[in-house]
Amino acid sequence: MTAKRYIVEHLDEELGAWSQLEYIKIARETGNFCLSSIPDSLKQNLPETLTSTPGFVAETRGVEDVYGQDPALKARVCLLDPAAAQELSPEDGELFDVFLFGGILGDDPPRDRTSELRKKGFTGRRLGPKQMTTDTAVRVTRIVAEKKIPLEKIEYLDFPSLQFNEHESTEMPFRYVKGEDGKPIMPDGMVELIKKDADKAIDDLF
Ligand code: SAM
Repeated sequence: MTAKRYIVEHLDEELGAWSQLEYIKIARETGNFCLSSIPDSLKQNLPETLTSTPGFVAETRGVEDVYGQDPALKARVCLLDPAAAQELSPEDGELFDVFLFGGILGDDPPRDRTSELRKKGFTGRRLGPKQMTTDTAVRVTRIVAEKKIPLEKIEYLDFPSLQFNEHESTEMPFRYVKGEDGKPIMPDGMVELIKKDADKAIDDLF
C-alpha cells in the first residue's frame, strides 16, 4: 500500500490557536501532513511549534494546482466531505493515496464551507452524519483507510462535556474518537485552550 498523504487546505483568514494545536496533532499522528494554500506572509510566520513538528509541510499552492491538473493524480485524491453521498470504507484505502480536508474550524450549526473544495471536483466521502473536528476527521480517515476498520466499528464520543472544575464545564458540539482512557482524543493543550477561551468569554461579558 502506498503511504497515505493528508492535506488540509487552509480556508480561514488566519491560523488560530485551535487550528495550530489540531495541525501539530495531525502531523504527529500521520507523519505526512501538508497544509496547503498558505499565503506567503503566513508561511513566514507559522509558529515554530508547528513547523518543527516532523511530518509537517506548508505549501503555498492550493490543492487544485498540486493535484488538479493531471486527471490520474486527481482521481487518487479523496475529499472528506460531510455532504458526500458515499461513506468512507476500508476499500477506499486502495482507491486513494491523498485525503483532503477543509481547513475550517468547526462551527455550530455547520456552514458547509467544505463546499469551497467540493466545487473543485475531487471525489467525496463522508465520515458519518456528525461534524468532527479536523484532527478527528483525519484520525477517523486513517483508522478506516489504513487500519481497515469500518466507520461503524469505531468508538466515538458525541458532544462530550469537558468538566474544568466543580462549577465549570462546557459541551463540545462535535464527534470525537474515544481514547483508551475513555476520554475524547484531542490535541495536547486543547482542553486548557478551551477553558481559557471560555473564561475570556465570561470576562468579556463584564
Ligand atoms: N463546519 C464545516 C463546514 O461547514 O464544512 C466543517 C468543518 S470540519 C471542523 C473540518 C473538515 O473536517 C471538513 O471540511 C471535512 O473535510 C472534515 N469533516 C468533519 N466532519 C466530517 C464528516 N462527518 N464527514 C466528512 N468530513 C468531515
